[in-house]
Amino acid sequence: MFENLSERLSGVFDRLTKQGALSEEDVKTALREVRVALLEADVSLPVARDFVKAVQGKATGQSVTRSVTPGQQVVKIVHDELIHVLSGSEDPGKLKIDNPPAPILMVGLQGSGKTTTTAKLAKRLKDRDGKRVLMASLDVNRPAAMEQLQILGLQIGVDTLPIVKGEDPVTIAKRAKTQAALGGYDVYMLDTAGRLHIDQELIAQAAAVRDAVAPRETLLVVDGLTGQDAVNVATEFDDKIGVSGVVLTRMDGDGRGGAALSMRAVTGKPIRFVGLGEKMDAIETFEPERIAGRILG
Ligand code: GDP
Repeated sequence: MFENLSERLSGVFDRLTKQGALSEEDVKTALREVRVALLEADVSLPVARDFVKAVQGKATGQSVTRSVTPGQQVVKIVHDELIHVLSGSEDPGKLKIDNPPAPILMVGLQGSGKTTTTAKLAKRLKDRDGKRVLMASLDVNRPAAMEQLQILGLQIGVDTLPIVKGEDPVTIAKRAKTQAALGGYDVYMLDTAGRLHIDQELIAQAAAVRDAVAPRETLLVVDGLTGQDAVNVATEFDDKIGVSGVVLTRMDGDGRGGAALSMRAVTGKPIRFVGLGEKMDAIETFEPERIAGRILG
């Protein structure tokens, strides 16, 4: 479907027969191709532009070594720069959960995969780290969402806070906190309400819950297939609520992963996990190399 970057560049450099330094002109021509490849991978235009500028500075004047073609050399420079921008935190999979019970706040738009991700992470904490986890849904507007979390909890063997009708999100969050402390849980995860679009009420509700429990981690779940939209959502949530990391879902789809680069470049927030399917084990720690490979095609 897509021509990958190496293929694009080998054409550009065909006329360069001699070994030597990459001239400014060669680099410029190559970078036009890099830019197109980034845009095709769904990287946003301003991010692609800045990225290309950074690569240009690094590539111009580099001598072409004997063992690689100029095209391969530019691909390597692009690859290294991608890793540089994508790398966010040293250990993205390590959640701050000391001082039990540690609250983790999950935020994001409806349909982003928030509830699924909450359960996936709870299972991971239980299976890998032997943690006792309590999950609670704060989605008072959608009883189905509360039930969904309860069903997932039963499936993965993680407790959920009993549902009490008529409570507001802050009250539920406080009840989760008390229950987690009394029940000897290590972590309690709060799955906040989602909407189709960001609105003031959604933000105000999430902020009130944040203030009530002081989460150790606030993880924003975004659909990795939504490209530029994902970046706008992240910027808004981070400005208003403050997030400690991003989980990109649907990375099992055929998107090219450009949202990851835009997300890092624009928000500066580390991508912590990627969702790779609907199953409860389909979540992995974010690895920059993988996404870089995917963006390059
Ligand atoms: P929420 O409204 O944000 O809580 O979204 P849900 O957790 O209910 O997820 C919406 C749909 O997306 C469900 O059908 C999930 O199974 C699916 N889903 C969630 N994460 C992933 C993922 O990483 N990959 C795929 N393919 N589907 C996902």
